[in-house]
This record gives sequence, structure tokens and C-alpha cells, in this order.
Amino acid sequence: MIKVTRDHFTCAHSAADQPAAYVNSGDCVEIETYDCYKCRLLPEGTTFDDLEPGCANPATGPVFVKEAMPGDMLRIEIRKIELGPVGIMDVGPSSGALKEFFPDRVIKRIPVKDGYIHYGDSVKVPVKPMIGVIGVAPAGEAVSTVTPMDHGGNMDCTKIEEGAVLYLPVFVEGGLLSTGDFHAIMGEGEVANCGLEIEGKVILKLDVIKNFHTEWPMIENEKQWITIAYGETLDEAADKAAKQMFLFLKECKGLSDVDASMLLHMAGDMIVCQIVNPLKTVRMEVPKQLITQMAEERCR
Ligand code: CA
Ligand code: CA
Repeated sequence: MIKVTRDHFTCAHSAADQPAAYVNSGDCVEIETYDCYKCRLLPEGTTFDDLEPGCANPATGPVFVKEAMPGDMLRIEIRKIELGPVGIMDVGPSSGALKEFFPDRVIKRIPVKDGYIHYGDSVKVPVKPMIGVIGVAPAGEAVSTVTPMDHGGNMDCTKIEEGAVLYLPVFVEGGLLSTGDFHAIMGEGEVANCGLEIEGKVILKLDVIKNFHTEWPMIENEKQWITIAYGETLDEAADKAAKQMFLFLKECKGLSDVDASMLLHMAGDMIVCQIVNPLKTVRMEVPKQLITQMAEERCR
């Protein structure tokens, strides 16, 4: 299996980046990642003054997928996420809903072992590993790895987890996929600034898809189809997530306008992914089983 080490990292998703590795459609790749602080806060006693200026969320890559061309979809199956031994959380005055309560930055280093987060001596929380940043190169200007858009990026969606399949539209030849900013766990909304930020490794199976396309990221898991949309505000992101799901149900699943909308009435769940990035992300989840039933009903 091709392995990409984290010395190949980028701080922006960019068509100009030199590929760190070349793979064929259908290949698996193992990608090693830094945490969002480039692991600079792991040694005891380090502070935000020790961070590398201008690079939050370093993402390892990019990986060039040989058959991928603009207009294709990149299918990214998340086979396995491995976490490092220590995660970090911080809270402070610069971002998050609680910033006015924290004039000074607080950093906590938290052991992660045997599938549990050990917060102090008595609090044990099972890990829920997820990928914060995963994206391809956008068509135009480079986009910082702190910003989510249609190329993916810093979506901070808890459903980008082991076993899920993420679909990203391809904008440039090879796709140029990079990933980083893993979380051992994160509450929906990422309200107070971050998740449990952690280094790690991921195994991805990458396939170029020619017969399915959306202009935005989508997730498929065992039970759901999910759209992830971004916006300047939560209202904008929410509106877009719903419209994208409606269009997906119509154009990719063949539902009528009315059925697609009624399906959202009955079983579409809208969830805030995060409120702390320069653009916000909201997702819309729909049960696959109901889509199948609706589609069958339409064929009768
Ligand atoms: Ca993030
Ligand atoms: Ca993060």
C-alpha cells in the first residue's frame, strides 16, 4: 500500500501543489497526519507562542489520483482511522461561543488509550474518531485548510468517520486530495473552539466515479445519505444543505419534486457541524431505506 508521511503537508488546498504521491483509481493509501497545531503543543510547557505562524490545520498530501478529471467524483472510503496517544483541547479569547469567558488561553493534554479518552483520573470517554479536514484542490484560487467549501476542506463533520464514504467533486486533474485535523471526539457544532485534536493515520480507498456527480460534498454510510453545505452564516449553510439534498433526491435518486420534499418533511435531519470556522457547515441527513422505498413507489 502507498504511504504518505506527514512531512508532505500543505496549509491550503491548491491546484499548484506538487503531488506527494500518485495512485490509481481503486488503490488504498495510508496517510499520516499532524494534529491541527502541527503537534507543536504536545510537549508540556509549550504555548500558542510555539505555533508555526500561518499554518493551522496542516493537511497531508496532496494525493494525485491518476484517472480523476474535472467533472468526476472522487469516492473516498474511510477504511481505518488510527489515533495518536495524546489529544489536545484548548479554549481562549479568539474563537468559539464561549470566548468572552476565557481572556486567557487554556490548553489541556489528554491521554487517549485503548479506545478511551482519559480526562483526568475518573472520566473515561469512548473515542469517536473523525476527520476534520479532507479536501481536493479547488478550481480557482487556493483555499486555506481552515475553510470549508465545495472542495471539502475544514468541514468538521462527525460523520466523516471510519466506515463512511465521502464523495468530493473533482475540480482539477488528479483531484489532489489532502487530509488532516483529526479529532478523537467532537461535539456537534464544535461550539467552544475545537474537538479533541490529535495526530493519526488513516487508510483511504480512492475510486474515481464517472456516473454520479454533485457539485458539493456528500457522505454515504450504512444507513444514510448526507449533504454538507457551507455558508457565511448558519442560515445560509442550512438553506443550502436542504436544497442540495432536495436536488440529490431528484436528480440522482429519481424522486419527484413533491416526493423529495415530503421525504425531507418526514425524515430529513438538519444538524450543525461547526460554528467556529471562517465559513460555517451544516449537514442534512436522510435515511437510505426511505429513499429506496420512495423510488420504488415511483416506479410502480
Ligand atoms: Ca477543524
Ligand atoms: Ca480541529
